[in-house]
Amino acid sequence: MKAIRRFTVRPVLPEPLHPLSDLARNLRWSWHAETRDLFQAVDPACWAACGDPVRLLGDVPAGRLAELAGDDRFLRRLTAAADDLRDYLSGDRWYQRRSRQDALPAAVAYFSPEFGITAALPQYSGGLGILAGDHLKAASDLGVPLIGVGLLYRHGYFRQSLSRDGWQQEHYPVLDPHELPLVRIEEPDGTPAQVMLALPGARFLRARIWLAQVGRVPLLLLDSDVEENDLSERGVTDRLYGGGSEHRLLQEMLLGIGGVRAVRTYCRLTGHPEPEVFHTNEGHAGFLGLERINELSAGGGPSGLDFDAALEAVRAGTVFTTHTPVPAGIDRFDRDLVARHFGPAAELPRIDVGRILRLGRETYPGGEAHLFNMAVMGLRLAQRANGVSLLHGEVSREMFAGLWPGFDAEEVPITSVTNGVHAPTWVAPEVLRLEAGRQADAADAADAADDTGEGAERWDAAAGLADPDLWQLRRTLRERLVSEVRERLRASWRQRGADTAELGWIDSVLDPDVLTIGFARRVPSYKRLTLMLRDRERLTELLLHPERPVQIVVAGKAHPADDSGKRLIQELVRFADDPRVRHRIVFLPDYGMAMAQKLYPGCDIWLNNPLRPLEACGTSGMKAALNGCLNLSVLDGWWDEWFEPDFGWAIPTADAAALDVDRRDDIEAAALYDLLEQRVTPRFYERGQQGLPDRWIEMVRRTLTRLGPKVLAGRMVREYVERLYAPAAGAHRALDPDAARELAAWKARLHRAWPGVSVDHVETSAALPGAELGTALALRVRVGLGDLGPDDVVVQAVSGRVDSEDRITGASVVPLKPVAGPDTEGRWSYEGPLALDRTGPFGYTVRVLPAHRLLASPAEPGLVAVPSEELVEGAGVLMR
Ligand SMILES: *Cc1c(COP(=O)(O)O)cnc(C)c1O
Repeated sequence: MKAIRRFTVRPVLPEPLHPLSDLARNLRWSWHAETRDLFQAVDPACWAACGDPVRLLGDVPAGRLAELAGDDRFLRRLTAAADDLRDYLSGDRWYQRRSRQDALPAAVAYFSPEFGITAALPQYSGGLGILAGDHLKAASDLGVPLIGVGLLYRHGYFRQSLSRDGWQQEHYPVLDPHELPLVRIEEPDGTPAQVMLALPGARFLRARIWLAQVGRVPLLLLDSDVEENDLSERGVTDRLYGGGSEHRLLQEMLLGIGGVRAVRTYCRLTGHPEPEVFHTNEGHAGFLGLERINELSAGGGPSGLDFDAALEAVRAGTVFTTHTPVPAGIDRFDRDLVARHFGPAAELPRIDVGRILRLGRETYPGGEAHLFNMAVMGLRLAQRANGVSLLHGEVSREMFAGLWPGFDAEEVPITSVTNGVHAPTWVAPEVLRLEAGRQADAADAADAADDTGEGAERWDAAAGLADPDLWQLRRTLRERLVSEVRERLRASWRQRGADTAELGWIDSVLDPDVLTIGFARRVPSYKRLTLMLRDRERLTELLLHPERPVQIVVAGKAHPADDSGKRLIQELVRFADDPRVRHRIVFLPDYGMAMAQKLYPGCDIWLNNPLRPLEACGTSGMKAALNGCLNLSVLDGWWDEWFEPDFGWAIPTADAAALDVDRRDDIEAAALYDLLEQRVTPRFYERGQQGLPDRWIEMVRRTLTRLGPKVLAGRMVREYVERLYAPAAGAHRALDPDAARELAAWKARLHRAWPGVSVDHVETSAALPGAELGTALALRVRVGLGDLGPDDVVVQAVSGRVDSEDRITGASVVPLKPVAGPDTEGRWSYEGPLALDRTGPFGYTVRVLPAHRLLASPAEPGLVAVPSEELVEGAGVLMR
């Protein structure tokens, strides 16, 4: 019989067990092995089945709870765990110590469409969400006062299984928030706190706010499935990345606009300090800037700002992180659709819709006028922006250079902060527990906690093991993976309709002594899931090699609307189903955090072969590295930055533009097979004097000690704090209403006057041919500033080596000094030395840029004046 209504009866814990409830509700258990051990002790079978403390406490029989309430040993452990959590949540950490020197923000709001914190809260689809989860956890460890903001999707992302013939099947289990590790935010009178958005047609979108406590960091999740909403509005937060364009727009309006309202509500109800910085993880939450403009323009009174001034104030405190150079990864909405959802009859009625539309316009060559681009709006609403690896920073500057016409890509104000991963979440408990053996040196551990903020859980203890022990540890981890794979594979085959009697072969799938390669990630085409299948004969030979075989574990979900991705999965599954190779290559359905945590530690090689440079960063290889797994990857994302021959192997790329994709895949796949045959497998199977693969073990150790510290999320969050949050908070404070009005008025004047700015005359003191290294020339220029004065601009000499097309590379920039002016024609003279500090072809030019104390970068207004073509020709500004 089907129930007509469901609700959840909360367990009543016996008094002595009350602390269990706090431990269950703070997600710190998800990265704290001792707390997990405690829950496991409550009911091992139940824990193995659900891995979720909230569910566990709901399922444990009352008799067992009564028993535990009288078990002194258990109660002592419980007290210790509760004390440990209390200590973790209180006291000063890195951020508090750091803020004694520098004015750090009182709080930072961090918005993301997805958060991957634990498998028990499945609100993520892939890397973007996991990164957001790791960001919150590392912020918690460091004491950064972050508030996370996201949506609570009723079905999360989908669960994946396979049909008999290997086609991806999607399932959408219902997640009941009452059964998740969440509490509802309530008003003082006990009613649920709500945010509300006005929709066209006099409709309303309401959402409740749920709180997930992530260590010290509150994560607010908005849920539109409330009775007061009409049916269609109830479904706004139904699925992550599902639905059509309008659905996506409503989700993003709720996330951005509703998210700011939720933060205000939370701060009002709890006394939490208001954020001074708003950070948007990818463009999806970009509307948050509009809501804050709306707040600042409220009331019209003396504190009310007009749009331009409010925009300046908002930009100052906003950080935008772009995550992808793949166009499909960027949201673009139809302009008319956006227009319909804003304005007098919808949301943000005080703001002129035309102004909103201009923020998302693709004003660069090739841009599409009818589209509203969320990344473009993100860049216009944030004074500070970044990509997620050095290479991706470069790619992003080129990709968005059109928004700063006249500037070289290097000068586009987008920096980069390379992603990191949260060690206590991703390092195998077996490895973390090694630390227990080193407890003797407790002071050392405490120091480490101080400067890394990763907590006393040192993750790299394995590096201190002797070779035989380290190798034994690697084998243990591989063995764990082998049993995990068999279990999952059996379940998958049962699901695909096989009978237990047919599945005896699964007991000999994978071998704990064979070199194990992992490949797991989402399946967009640029990640090339099936590159390894390019030459099936060669792959088969690798798998079945009599002395040096490899085995491969593959996993990944294709987006439900992506049939080409599903075809790739099917191709791989069919290959892996072949009885000749099925003991050496497996595809595991339903890739997610739970599987990932088992997979990375058990692999020897983590394979990554995207189309360079489309992988913005990639983080799975970092998680593998922290467990002593070596990387075998195309030089893309983070690997391009940190690859060293000690940490693994670089797959050569054939990324010349002229090459067609097919040919490129052939070349790169061949390079991959070559590396595996000639370099990787020999090194794994070679044996030294002690019967161990000495050189492999040395690579593992170097990966742990030298690569490990770079890839930590703590390092990433510290960089965000120091390089982006702190300056943004400073800019936010500087832009009080008067300063915001001043800056807006100045920019308006600047844009009006700029057509009158010109470089009219350039001369140098010495004859140019035969210029010698080490000498300096005196440079004298005359510039026209129109209605602007020397206080509004900088005049710069830009010099350096020139390439064959006379482009200056690796430029050095020197400001020139105003010496006279204005003359009768309104021109100003500037002078300065030009150092000939490089040999070879050398060139210089002169330019005028806007200057104002409140600009973060002179490129910010997107205006520059350079010498006219005639002047360049006539004066021979470039010298060879
Ligand atoms: C780390 C992780 C990812 C991201 O992996 P990439 O290599 O960056 O694509 C995706 N899914 C899960 C479950 C992860 O843990």
